[in-house]
Amino acid sequence: AAMYAVKRAGRGHYRVYTPELDTRARDAELRDAVENGELVLHFQPVVNLVGGDGIAVEALVRWNHPVRGLQMPGAFIELAEETGAIIPIGEWVLREACRQAVGWSTPTGEKVWLSVNVSARQVTQAGLVDTIREVLAETGFPADRLVLELTESVILQPDEQTVARLSTLREMGIGISVDDFGTGYAALSYLRTLPVSILKIDRSFVDGIDTDPDTYAVAEALVRLARAYRLHVVAEGIETAEQARCMAEMGCTFGQGYHFARPMPGPALADLLASGGVG
Ligand code: C2E
Ligand code: CA
Ligand code: CA
Ligand code: CA
Repeated sequence: AAMYAVKRAGRGHYRVYTPELDTRARDAELRDAVENGELVLHFQPVVNLVGGDGIAVEALVRWNHPVRGLQMPGAFIELAEETGAIIPIGEWVLREACRQAVGWSTPTGEKVWLSVNVSARQVTQAGLVDTIREVLAETGFPADRLVLELTESVILQPDEQTVARLSTLREMGIGISVDDFGTGYAALSYLRTLPVSILKIDRSFVDGIDTDPDTYAVAEALVRLARAYRLHVVAEGIETAEQARCMAEMGCTFGQGYHFARPMPGPALADLLASGGVG
């Protein structure tokens, strides 16, 4: 039998699967990565598109693998969600992001909001609220500056306890953001019943707004929907000045994307904020 198989993984990308490197081994390796301090955070700014106040940063995890080098979340988050390793990873991300961002501010002394991605597994954990309370107490990060980003798949069919948990977090002042908004084919009724405060429009809806009228119209509809529910709205994946202008014109207040800044290590982001170089 072949020692390893080469599998097609999407357009033109090939991955090598060895029999030894099965799910269990990869899971164990991932859990060790947390303990060995191999995870790192990068942060990307979210800026006000219409010249008003408010600046946020989103924490994005990377794995500094001793052999394979810097691994992007696309290479390991899905597996971590399947095996449950996302629980220790997610807790590490939350604590580390709060620890780093607690001292960050702009030249005018304005504090930043901090967005942390939270997976479905974490939200269904009974201990989520306690963990977050603990991390906030430990790091001194203010609850009303923390935002949790959940994907629509989490929010689609939340059980009663999950709704209660999210409500408690909202009461603590924590923001709840629907990430990748529009990609989940969700019934929008959840927007009325869930304690959501922000909609984050997926970058697939931003791509092309500056060149294609139909794409513009769809993005505009999503912004209008967010505003009808009186939610803050953020556009992700803004890569050009023209896209930023279009989103602002639609009434989208906040934007994130390579046009403003790429994700970067905490110290670099702290410098950028302090120098007033963003937002
Ligand atoms: P996301 O939450 O939608 O994060 C935005 C992704 O888009 C990031 O990719 C970011 O680097 C990328 N991005 C930002 N601006 C632009 C742009 O202008 N153009 C393009 N083409 N891309 C842009 P990244 O860092 O590779 O993260 C991928 C996904 O992995 C995230 O998507 C999120 O779903 C997940 N993820 C990242 N960190 C965590 C984490 O700590 N916990 C969990 N559960 N998931 C995470
Ligand atoms: Ca996100
Ligand atoms: Ca997103
Ligand atoms: Ca996205």
